[in-house]
Amino acid sequence: MKDRLFHLLSLVVFLAFVVMTSFYAWQDSRRIKHFVQHYELPSIGMALAASLDRTAGEYLRISDELLRDDFIRNWILAGEEDIDSLRQFLGDISLRFRLADASMVSDRSETYYSNDRRVVKLDPNNVSRDGWYYLYRDTLRATNIDTWYYAQEDKLHIWVNAPLFDDNGEFLGLAGVGVDTEDFSNMLLAYNRLEGFNVFLARVDGQLVYAKDRQLLAEQRSFNDLWNIEFNSLPKNQNISGDTIANKDDQGAMLWVRFMEPWNTWLVVEKTAESVQSRVNDSFKSSAMLSGSLGMFLFLVIFTSITLARRQVDKNTLQLEYQAGTDSLTGLFNRLHFSRFIEQELIRLRQVKGTSAILLIDIDNFKKVNDSYGHPIGDEVLRYVALTLKQNTREGDIASRFGGEEFMILLSGASLKTATQRAEQLRVAVSELALPCLPNEVRVTISIGVSLLDISKDNPIDTAYREADKALYAAKSAGRNRVVCS
Ligand code: GH3
Ligand code: MG
Ligand code: MG
Repeated sequence: MKDRLFHLLSLVVFLAFVVMTSFYAWQDSRRIKHFVQHYELPSIGMALAASLDRTAGEYLRISDELLRDDFIRNWILAGEEDIDSLRQFLGDISLRFRLADASMVSDRSETYYSNDRRVVKLDPNNVSRDGWYYLYRDTLRATNIDTWYYAQEDKLHIWVNAPLFDDNGEFLGLAGVGVDTEDFSNMLLAYNRLEGFNVFLARVDGQLVYAKDRQLLAEQRSFNDLWNIEFNSLPKNQNISGDTIANKDDQGAMLWVRFMEPWNTWLVVEKTAESVQSRVNDSFKSSAMLSGSLGMFLFLVIFTSITLARRQVDKNTLQLEYQAGTDSLTGLFNRLHFSRFIEQELIRLRQVKGTSAILLIDIDNFKKVNDSYGHPIGDEVLRYVALTLKQNTREGDIASRFGGEEFMILLSGASLKTATQRAEQLRVAVSELALPCLPNEVRVTISIGVSLLDISKDNPIDTAYREADKALYAAKSAGRNRVVCS
C-alpha cells in the first residue's frame, strides 16, 4: 500500500516533469521562431536592402550619364557607322567613373561594341557569353542593374544597363557599364559573416549570382531548387518588400526575401536551420533543467512530508499501544502495565502480609535466531515463547513482555520454592517446543531468574527486579537453559 502510493507519486511527478518540459520547450521554440521571423531576419534583411538601394542610386547616376544627349541612340539610328566617336564617348564615361568597361549593344544588328575596341556579333545560342543580353532584352524593365557571377574567375560582375528606344518606343539596344564590385562584395561578405546567416542574390530567373558557398554558384544552382520555392510566383511589386517567408524548406531554415526592383534581382537572407535548431535546443535544455529541478524539489517536499507524517503516525500508534498496556507482537502486558500490576500487588501484600515471586525470563542466544533465520522468524519465535508462557501460568499470574526477548511473570502469593518449581516447568515447556517456523532439530531455550517480592525490604519492587536480574545473569553464566533462584 505504502509502496503503491510512492510509485504513483513518482509517476505523477515524472509525468508532470515531462508535460511541463514539453510545454515550455514547445512554447519556447515558437517564441524563438517568431522572434527570428518577425524581428531578426527582417532587421538584417532591411538593413541589407537599404545598402543595396544606396548602391543602386550611385549606379543609376552612371546610367543617366550613358543616356546623355541621346548620343548612343542617335548613333544607332544613324546606322552604326562612326565607331571612333562611339569609343570616344564610352571611353570618356569609363574614365570619369573609373569603370571596368563601357559598352553598348545594338539590337538591330545584334552587335556588341566596347570602349576597348571589341566588336562582337551576338549569338543567342552562346548563352555563357551572350545570354545576359537576351535575358535583359526579354525581361526589359525601366531599371537596369544586372548582376552576374563568373565561376571561372570567382567574381561578381555588375553591369549598369540603360535601354535605348527610338521615337516610336521600339527597343534599339542598350548602353552598359561594368562597375567595380569590390566595395559591394565586401559589404555582402560582412553580412554573410553574421553567425547563422547567409545572404544570397539571384537573377530574376532565380539563378544564384551571389552566395557565401561558392560551390552553389559553381553548380549554377537556382533559388527554386535550393529551397523548393517557385520564385517566379512570388509577387515582385513593392508590396512584398519586407515580407517574411518562413519555414519554406523542409529543414526548418527561415528566409527573408525581397525583390530589389532597381537591381532586377532577388535578395534572400537565410537564417540557417542549424542555428534556429541549436537555439531551440539550448532553450529546451534550460527549460528541462528548470522544470526538472522544480519537479525534483516538488517531489522531495511531498516525499518528505509523507515520510514525516507516516513516522508521526507510527509513533502515535506505538504510544497508544503502549498506553493501552499490551504488547502488539506477543499480546502480553507491556512493561508499563506490568509495573502497575506489581504496585497493586505490593499494596495487597501489605494487607495480607504474604509474599509473591517474580520470574525474569530471557530467551537464550536469541540473537543467533535472528541472525540465522531473519528478524520475522525471530518475531515468530517470540510469539510462540510468549504463548507458551501464557499457557503455563495460572489465572491471577501476570505475564508480560519486559523488553526485547525478556519476559517477566508475577506469581501472586507464591513462595520462592513454588516459584522455582513453576519456573522449571516453564523452562521445560519452552525447551520442548517444536516450532513450525524453525528447522525440526532446533530448540529454543530460556533462562530464568527467580526472586521474591518481599515487603519487609526497602524498595521491594526494585529489590525484586535487581535480584531476579542477578539470578538470571547467574543462570546465563552457568550455561543457560536453567533456573536460578536468588
Ligand atoms: P543471551 O543468551 O545472552 O541472552 O544471548 P541473546 O543473543 O539472546 O542476547 P542479546 O541481548 O545479545 O540479543 C538479544 C536479541 O534480541 C537482540 C535483538 O535484536 C533481538 N530482539 C529484541 N527485540 C526483538 C523483537 O521484537 N523481534 C526480534 N525478532 N528480535 C528482537
Ligand atoms: Mg536479553
Ligand atoms: Mg537473550
